[in-house]
Amino acid sequence: MSTTNTTASGAPDAPGTAQDFDLVIRGSKVMIAEGTGPLEVGIRDGVITSVEPLGADLQGGEVIELAPDETLIPGLVDSHVHVNEPGRTEWEGFASATRAAAAGGVTTIIDMPLNSIPPTVNTEALAVKRDAARDQAFVDIGFWGGAVPGNTADLRELHDDGVFGFKCFLLHSGVDEFPALEVDEMETDMAELARLDSLMIVHAEDAHTVETAPQDFSNEYASFLASRPRDAENLAIAAVIERARRTGVRAHILHLSSSDALPLIAEAKRDGVKITVETCPHYLTLTAEEVPVGSTAHKCCPPIREGDNREQLWQGLQDGTIDCIVSDHSPCTVELKDLDTGDFGTAWGGVSSLQLGLSLIWSGARERGIPLEQVVEWMSARPAALARLSRKGGLAVGKDADLAVVAADDSFVVDVNKLHHKNAISPYEGRSLNGLVRRTYLRGQAVDGAAPTGELIRRES
Ligand SMILES: [Zn+2]
Repeated sequence: MSTTNTTASGAPDAPGTAQDFDLVIRGSKVMIAEGTGPLEVGIRDGVITSVEPLGADLQGGEVIELAPDETLIPGLVDSHVHVNEPGRTEWEGFASATRAAAAGGVTTIIDMPLNSIPPTVNTEALAVKRDAARDQAFVDIGFWGGAVPGNTADLRELHDDGVFGFKCFLLHSGVDEFPALEVDEMETDMAELARLDSLMIVHAEDAHTVETAPQDFSNEYASFLASRPRDAENLAIAAVIERARRTGVRAHILHLSSSDALPLIAEAKRDGVKITVETCPHYLTLTAEEVPVGSTAHKCCPPIREGDNREQLWQGLQDGTIDCIVSDHSPCTVELKDLDTGDFGTAWGGVSSLQLGLSLIWSGARERGIPLEQVVEWMSARPAALARLSRKGGLAVGKDADLAVVAADDSFVVDVNKLHHKNAISPYEGRSLNGLVRRTYLRGQAVDGAAPTGELIRRES
């Protein structure tokens, strides 16, 4: 690795003399884009203003020396979170979600436009969301808009009001107030978003394929898996690629589960279609074969698939076909998971993993010989690039001092009652994971879970 030797201001900072920084963090393992090594990080007014080799003796109002087992990483950016407030605040809320985020090393979330009421499909609804979030943000929060039938005229206003892009569904979303688009309607909206240089993010499962799949549900996971076949994803992804190619829009495939779609996506990327793809911790860590009978905590859409599919997704990440890993944190109340019957047909679909993402992915990566730097790139730099957040997603001069301290070799056992998200249900209960987040900093301030210092962020123009 090489070290940087720069300061944000042109002024000579004369390391070792003046008390130039509000906070200095020193450690033998500090992760910058070039690699991990012994560095000192100087922070002023919430911004990283200096990164120097360890020994430079930067002086600050507060100086923190990392323990030998600690790595300082850039805070993660999670661009796929359903906070559900207002409207379904009993499912999740801004305070609990952002406390969970901070505890997991996530310093920026972007909230999905549905499951809250009203859904974020016009600027009035966006204002309602912001009012709900404003005083209870423990990390930074941005918002996606929604593209639904009939709101094409609202997209520009929402864009101008700072949303990072627009989500649409190609089949029933699960909530009636956020209807799906027909493929032609999606193309109309894509054309509008191409004019705005915005981004269309798509829940890509084909409605007809799901409607005609077996719907013979029981408490066996296989009954649910059969109802959401890979073809539903493959067909819908092909449609997104075709319409993205035609309109020139930036398009993003949400929560990829079907590895069968990887060659299609790789080919589209080679052809210059502006398409990006995310997958989620549950598809990379869990398998259909091991879901216990009646364990509806594992139900999500698209579904967790077989072990060989999981390995193909890891391969897709490593060869660059998949761009990033985000949570799709989508909670509900414990009652809605129908744990008493364990019926995979009626239980709400969604996995809560905002607090565990880094540990889950690091545990899986390490088993496969993938370094922590790669994990952080997938979970921080890449989602920040997707949302064009130039101040996030890296530990570098000029970026916000959003940081996490991770003990990569520490292990812990998941106890759902100790997680911060609102409803104590998780498919990871009892699982042993590596990588403990010891502290999280937002703009150079340690997040304490008491004083909400997060900001509501907008698309950079
Ligand atoms: Zn989602």
